[in-house]
Amino acid sequence: APGLYLVATPIGNLGDITLRALGVLARADVIYCEDTRHSAKLLQHYSITARTRPFHDHNEDREIDRAIADLESGKRIAVISDAGTPLLSDPGFKLVRAAAAAGVAVVPVPGPSALLAALTASGLPTDAFFFAGFLPAKQAARRTRLSELSPIPGSLVFYEAPHRVAETLADMAGLLGDRQAVVARELTKMHEEIGRGSLAELADAATEDLKGEVVIVVGPQQAQAVSDETLGARLADALAVMSLKDAARA
Ligand code: SAM
Repeated sequence: APGLYLVATPIGNLGDITLRALGVLARADVIYCEDTRHSAKLLQHYSITARTRPFHDHNEDREIDRAIADLESGKRIAVISDAGTPLLSDPGFKLVRAAAAAGVAVVPVPGPSALLAALTASGLPTDAFFFAGFLPAKQAARRTRLSELSPIPGSLVFYEAPHRVAETLADMAGLLGDRQAVVARELTKMHEEIGRGSLAELADAATEDLKGEVVIVVGPQQAQAVSDETLGARLADALAVMSLKDAARA
């Protein structure tokens, strides 16, 4: 059927593509690719010969009119990005908004995403989380953003460039408090690695020359757990103060 198909592709391991995604790509009239040369490898691997067109941040505005006209004439357009689910820190949002406004079908074809792969493997709470995408590259803006995110009651998920992971973790340790966190690197690939610890521990362990693709997951602010012992001590202190006051009055 005609429509705009948002197709998730692998984040590393080429096996991570759904049967439905392969069918949709094979039958598409055109596949919009963030980078046609990059996607050619995936499409070749699965013998998909559909026509491709570049579709990225720099031509998205220009391409939208053509895409909507094509969709209105009954074409099937598939959108893919270099990795994972399109629109997640990847192009496509404006096109989907325009397609929805034009009343053409928008069809999600879900699959891999570094966001959910990292979150689910993190061992951190998944019941409520906030996807923060990429932090600003400049330190002042990054710190402001972290302060804004700090009160959110849930886990926080970030994409980050490998050479910035060390300084970002240090800023996080300073601004988010000492929460539990995970650095998930090269997910689904040969050198997949999931590092766990407190933000301070992970910041200490991180190096400037880190390589590969990274997601940082930060657990929620820990509720101030009070042990029975602490409670008992506080109660004893309070009672002592009260009896001192009584003694003073007497
Ligand atoms: N749309 C993609 C998705 O659904 O995951 C994300 C695109 S975003 C431009 C690229 C970022 O995603 C990387 O900088 C990294 O933070 C994260 N990422 C992508 N693939 C990854 C992988 N295999 N392991 C860890 N992080 C990955």
